[in-house]
Amino acid sequence: MFSEQHYNSEQIYSTLSSIFGFRSFRPHQEEIVQAILQGRDVFAVMPTGGGKSLCYQLPARMMQGVCVVVSPLISLMKDQVDAARINGLSAATLNSTISAEEKNAIGVALRQNRLDLLYISPERFNSEYFISRLKTLRISFFAIDEAHCISEWGHDFRPDYLELSKIVHEFPSIPVTAFTATATPHVTDDIVKRLCLRNPHLTRASFNRPNLFYRVMVKQDLDVQIRSFLAGHSGESGIIYRNSRKKVEATAEMLQVFGISAKSYHAGMSDVDRHAVQEAFSRDECSIIVATIAFGMGIDKSNVRFVIHADLPKNIEGYYQETGRAGRDGEPAECLLFFGRQDIAQQLRFADEIETEQARNIAKEQLKQMIRFAEQNNCRRVALLKYFGETFSKQNCNSCDICVDSHNLEEATIPAQKILSAIYRTKESFGAIHITDILVGANTEKIRQFKHDKLPTYGVGKDKPKNYWRAVIDALIAQKIVKIEDMLRPILKLTDEAVLILRNQKKFLMRKPHEYISAENKINRISSMKIPSYEIKPFSEPLFIKLRELRTELARAENVPPYIVFSDRTLHEMARYFPRNAETFQQVHGVGRNKYAAYGQRFLEVINKFCEQNPDEMKSLRFKRQFEQNYETSAQISRSSQLSLSTSSSASPLSTTALSSSFLETYRLFQQGKTIDEIVIERKLTRGTIITHLEKLGESGLEISVDLFFVPERLAQIKEWFSASGDNLFLKPAVEASGGKLDFEEARLARIFLRNSLQVNQE
Ligand code: ADP
Ligand code: MG
Repeated sequence: MFSEQHYNSEQIYSTLSSIFGFRSFRPHQEEIVQAILQGRDVFAVMPTGGGKSLCYQLPARMMQGVCVVVSPLISLMKDQVDAARINGLSAATLNSTISAEEKNAIGVALRQNRLDLLYISPERFNSEYFISRLKTLRISFFAIDEAHCISEWGHDFRPDYLELSKIVHEFPSIPVTAFTATATPHVTDDIVKRLCLRNPHLTRASFNRPNLFYRVMVKQDLDVQIRSFLAGHSGESGIIYRNSRKKVEATAEMLQVFGISAKSYHAGMSDVDRHAVQEAFSRDECSIIVATIAFGMGIDKSNVRFVIHADLPKNIEGYYQETGRAGRDGEPAECLLFFGRQDIAQQLRFADEIETEQARNIAKEQLKQMIRFAEQNNCRRVALLKYFGETFSKQNCNSCDICVDSHNLEEATIPAQKILSAIYRTKESFGAIHITDILVGANTEKIRQFKHDKLPTYGVGKDKPKNYWRAVIDALIAQKIVKIEDMLRPILKLTDEAVLILRNQKKFLMRKPHEYISAENKINRISSMKIPSYEIKPFSEPLFIKLRELRTELARAENVPPYIVFSDRTLHEMARYFPRNAETFQQVHGVGRNKYAAYGQRFLEVINKFCEQNPDEMKSLRFKRQFEQNYETSAQISRSSQLSLSTSSSASPLSTTALSSSFLETYRLFQQGKTIDEIVIERKLTRGTIITHLEKLGESGLEISVDLFFVPERLAQIKEWFSASGDNLFLKPAVEASGGKLDFEEARLARIFLRNSLQVNQE
């Protein structure tokens, strides 16, 4: 099974860029491609969005013969074939929906050895006839996608997949490759065994999805919470998961009432209806799907920008896979979980319905892990990856609520004492709901029964809403000041730490909860809680919207999903770099030869027209990028040499009388998109002076987008150095904390941004 031909890296890279339009491989793709080209069996575990298709499509293009791809769903096959064809690969699918005519045409193409890829469904291997026909063809290798479907341990078991163990015996000289996103060792072992892979090249990629932002919020006024979130994401595609058909329908209806285009999807619907919904979503005709977890596999849509879990997921694996459907294109996307303790009881009931005791216990253990994930106070990314046996080494991932809000703590010792005292006085025998009722002075059956209205703590928290107290209790649990011994029967108990706080020997700090604000404020609040701006590379939103419209139009004309024409990432880059001719356009991520030929002119027209009509937009973007590039390239070079490069221009001291107008002049130039260095030259002032101007302008409340001067990692790093002095943001301690890696000038620039973000957070 060794291929006679040798392929060098140059050929591989040139295919990558001319066919797929990508400049580089994602992690592990290259080694997998190499292994396939060497004729080896391969087994690859890569997360959703890791780019598994490319691993077999690229060698399929380069090698002689056809690559036979087994895929579980017709809709998946169809999209993959469309996507491959648009890139200029020759691909076809044989399944039950294909007409006799088409079948013949495919047969001819196969005999003439003209196909790169043939997608088939697993049940084909039931047929002796089919196998005998396959044997007459020149096959480069087999690729089994979604390979976990072969395992009864997996959640997507498909009996037809068992037929695939025949492949190795029927085609002993042809390499077999298998791909899955399943993380469980049990299932992965099973796959290798059942497919009888022969000394396969094994790959297990990291399960970290750096572009996903994880957030958990206390669930309390769900409908409002969902609408608030959506208000900040209009026009974006997203999935809202609910754990029952009834809830799916209720949420979808609620959204429709508010004029939001949402469709429901669950196993109770007919195949036809489900297919139509999936199709509408895939084609951007409906931006939001409310679904049970039945909605999942088969969604290759790359521009899903958010996934909301409106109910507590059963386990971390499921939560991870579901959130994983966001941001396959590598662009920032959000994962939001609404966590309410009231959901625990329901999940427990589901678990109790499981028949065998062993499975029931496993389900409960997994549920506990999920609850722990939701209520803990450490980086979400660290926790998720730990679940998959991975360690994540960065101190601050900057892409989860915990890490981002860790700079935003407030003291809440007194409220904490009120709660702890209520727990103490009720002999540590009640849960969060009852304790909250005591604090707000509720008149419930239970309160009367236990005479808790006679307690000194009864009603001491009347001044704040219930949600506030729930948020404090959650924080106390997360910080292990209050403990719950049996997560499934959540009685609050005090720890030694709690005693210290009660005795005033220790302060209690918590993240400012976003959650307990009144309903009217909530809309603004949640929708403004976007991914921190330094995590997003700047692009022109108005141009992006225009490009997105054109994409939809072209996709309709060709009857394919828009993301297959160009991914969001590709459109973002266009709206960021403004390519205005063939050469620059072809450098954009995702623009291969074929796509350029098919769509290049249309997109260039839109970009050129936009640039003519909006010269300022272009300038300001170019400016933002310039800074970024400065810092990107210098990331490895010593920082200090960078900023001092340009301090030498001749300087006339700032005349104090002209202060305010001078500031405004700097502001004007800055807004025009000039770089600091350009302003230095134009104004004949020093860099230091210009930075002072920017500082003052920022302090006076003007928006000075200096965050765009920094790459995210750098900013995160600087933020950490500053954290020593808390909200005061003193320069000296930060510079000292950096151990020579940060100079005053850069610290001042970063501080403008940090101050700005503090203000925003405090509003
Ligand atoms: P998976 O099957 O692993 O979930 P896909 O094969 O569907 O992932 O790929 C997800 C997205 O990543 C697709 O939009 C694809 O075009 C893109 N992609 C794949 N490889 C690369 C790469 N090397 N560079 C940039 N984008 C890539
Ligand atoms: Mg895939």
